[in-house]
Amino acid sequence: MENQLPFSRRDFIRNTSLAVAATVITPGLSVFATDGPPTQKILGLALVGLGQYSSQKLAPALEQTKNVRLTGIVTGTPSKAKAWKKKYGIPDKNVYDYSNFDEIVNNKDIDIVYVVLPNSMHKEFVIRAAKAGKHVICEKPMATSVADAQEMIKACKDNNVQLAVGYRLHFEPFNKAVMEFGQKEKFGKVKSIKAVDNQKMAGKGVDAWRLRKNLAGGGPLMDLGVYCIQGACYTMGMNPIAVTARYGNVTDPTTFYDVEESISFQLEFEGGVIADCLSSYSDEGNELSGTAQNGWWKLAPAYAYDGKKGETHQGPMQITETFEQVDQMDGIARSIIDKKPNIVPGEMGLRDVKILMAVYESADNGGKRIGLKL
Ligand code: NAD
Repeated sequence: MENQLPFSRRDFIRNTSLAVAATVITPGLSVFATDGPPTQKILGLALVGLGQYSSQKLAPALEQTKNVRLTGIVTGTPSKAKAWKKKYGIPDKNVYDYSNFDEIVNNKDIDIVYVVLPNSMHKEFVIRAAKAGKHVICEKPMATSVADAQEMIKACKDNNVQLAVGYRLHFEPFNKAVMEFGQKEKFGKVKSIKAVDNQKMAGKGVDAWRLRKNLAGGGPLMDLGVYCIQGACYTMGMNPIAVTARYGNVTDPTTFYDVEESISFQLEFEGGVIADCLSSYSDEGNELSGTAQNGWWKLAPAYAYDGKKGETHQGPMQITETFEQVDQMDGIARSIIDKKPNIVPGEMGLRDVKILMAVYESADNGGKRIGLKL
């Protein structure tokens, strides 16, 4: 096992830049350090939190991964433990609850712990997993405060384990194409970016954890806006230098009494490029687009699990969709096996938490421009 290397802008550009300046986007093109043929070793992974994302995407993906497989579960719900043990053939000794979770230290079947809990719970379980000597994947947003994210990184470093954030789109061909357009200036220098991620929360119930600040850390910004931040940063291959933000109107005060209903924000990059971003829980919308000196591109939907579509000024993007969670977990597992830094490290998650907090600071101060030192 090796220490997480410090994450720098240079690493980010190196890790996320395409290896070749291809003029045609080839689906499945091996472009990242973590791409390549499967290695022999197969790691064991335990999912912590068996909610929607674990059941609908991660567990099915782990039936197709080559470098990692589901060997354990951590759940507070005994009925789920019973059903998962049967469905995925997990032995009793690899089933934990939140109180006995630390005993995982003695379990050789489990190399990676994947934390898929409400946002404010990430910190506790990432740190406990790191102290048990397990590599960690943590869902987005990594944390609900900068201090928490820093503690999580420190715990993983202190215990010589890798920390990766569940940023699946770094392993997904449409979004990788956008990285190429922006970072490689395929259509000239980027002029502007638009990033929208909205999802209606109506009918989810006012007590849903995503609507509770103590569990979610905020509203749509924490849940969806983080994709807009990611999209803007990986289009540019650099970090923003300032942010301005405004809350939208509250149209449903019964639902949105604890977190914002919507928020719009602008990320400013060196050279004057602005990324116009919007995330809302009372509307639909899913887009990552950009204009450059000699053309434009648009992914819509951009961040959905399935059904992504892309277009440029030259016409529809000819890309075949992949099961991105398979490539994500295989890619991260391969980094661990090869003792190389992963391409979605805790430092990237920390950067995004810093931006998220600056967005709130600006909105709380009526749209004041907040400079960022990332
Ligand atoms: P979910 O509500 O479906 O599942 C949450 C799980 O946490 C449940 O198993 C629940 O029992 C457990 N839990 C433990 N303590 C809880 C508490 N106090 N309140 C509520 N639940 C509690 O949520 P989800 O959609 O699976 O999201 C989990 C995490 O995964 C979040 O951080 C979310 O942002 C992230 N996520 C990421 C993606 C992605 O595409 N990367 C997609 C969905 C969710």
